[in-house]
Amino acid sequence: MKPTYVKNQMLTLTVDAMGNEGEGIARDNGFPFFVKGALPGEKIVVSVMKVKKNYGFARLEEILVPSGERREPVCPVAVSCGGCQLLHVSYEEQLRYKEQKVLGCLSHIGRIQNPEQYMEPIIGMEHPYGYRNKAQYPVGRNKEGRIVTGFYAGRTHQIKANEHCAIQAEGMDEILAIVRSFMEQYHISPYDETTQTGSVRHVLVRKGFHTGQWMVCIIINEKKLPHWEKLVEALKEIPGMTSISINQNQKNTNVILGDHTELLYGAPVIEDRIGDITYEISPESFYQVNPVQTERLYEVALSYAGLTGKEVVWDLYCGIGTISLFLARKAKKVYGVEIVPQAVKNAEKNRAKNQISNVEFYTGAAEEIFPQRYAQDPEGSRADVVVVDPPRKGCDQKLLETICRMGPERIVYVSCDPATLARDILYLTTEGGYELQRFRATDMFPQGGHVECVTLLQRKDI
Ligand code: SAH
Repeated sequence: MKPTYVKNQMLTLTVDAMGNEGEGIARDNGFPFFVKGALPGEKIVVSVMKVKKNYGFARLEEILVPSGERREPVCPVAVSCGGCQLLHVSYEEQLRYKEQKVLGCLSHIGRIQNPEQYMEPIIGMEHPYGYRNKAQYPVGRNKEGRIVTGFYAGRTHQIKANEHCAIQAEGMDEILAIVRSFMEQYHISPYDETTQTGSVRHVLVRKGFHTGQWMVCIIINEKKLPHWEKLVEALKEIPGMTSISINQNQKNTNVILGDHTELLYGAPVIEDRIGDITYEISPESFYQVNPVQTERLYEVALSYAGLTGKEVVWDLYCGIGTISLFLARKAKKVYGVEIVPQAVKNAEKNRAKNQISNVEFYTGAAEEIFPQRYAQDPEGSRADVVVVDPPRKGCDQKLLETICRMGPERIVYVSCDPATLARDILYLTTEGGYELQRFRATDMFPQGGHVECVTLLQRKDI
């Protein structure tokens, strides 16, 4: 029976676990409450916010006994901003939490017995701040009517104004300040979602960490940005400014970028390097946000792929071809598949730029192209190794079925969501004839709750 609670009722509880989003889970006579900002082991006072059938949400009011893993957050909007979930947690504990999250998913969803036996230690960062190479800041106004940038508060579209984000690349603040002051000076309005009026929706900023190149793209709710030449004049003074563009998005949508991008200054792309490979990146293309950890992640993927130079590899969900090109020098042939046409254009340029000739890219949905190619030419398209790196929703069932029919020796699964990873592993290990060999999480998102993981599966009959 669910106990009865009233809103704002105060309770004294002890936190016994951490939930999926890094929130504390504290029980009142067995009934669980999710409490943002609370840590396991802490004795806390909370006020009840909302109660559902099997769980509730409560606000942290006071910490009576703090956890030894608690840290003073380096950010003033640490609790209210939806960007980071773990700023109040020691970095060592963040890494343990992420390992536990992967293990929990593998055993509960993936039904892997004692998954610890396959785990290699998580790869953490030496300096877990200032690591992000990309931000998409929403733009709005504060109560006083001033232009503000920041990130949305958790689960809302309320902007938490913040002029310095602890996880963003150094130099972002200065660029954002220029955009804000340009908007103030020329009376450019921010976009208002409720009335669908106003101009500037988001500012996308990206930095090539190894090249020092900057990209700025202003996403606007109209065709032109008035006085844009003044903005360009100010921004191009920033050392490394390489690409300034506007992107038109006049739809009533949560999707940030619209279909049309127009260059205002410089080049349409910036370049960056991972290992000894140079990549060019458009505003529309996916590129891993943590360049230091990306290199380590790809090293793990490369070692799991076990390439000797004779293998045919499919890299599904390949983005701008980062993994494809990273693996190409050790493989006979690599096929990459990606749905965003602009990313495939980048991938093709990247192949040429790095003088790599044994890679072929296809534009389209991996779950369509891969089965089609296999049906047309089962022998010619057969892979020794399949790499998948899907978005959070994981792999399409049709794609998994094709992998199993094709029967590559190894599958290297790069995942940004352990729950969907575990779901797909359950299929591959029960229906598909594969077994889990090894996995290793890499901390791509220090201070945040998400975890990235590379997994090696091998065909059972080998
Ligand atoms: N491996 C790349 C990209 C991984 S992100 C890297 O490490 O940089 C996932 C990619 O999958 C994105 O580029 C996204 O555009 C692409 N994608 C999403 N759905 C897809 C689908 N159905 N078929 C192919 N690619 C898809």
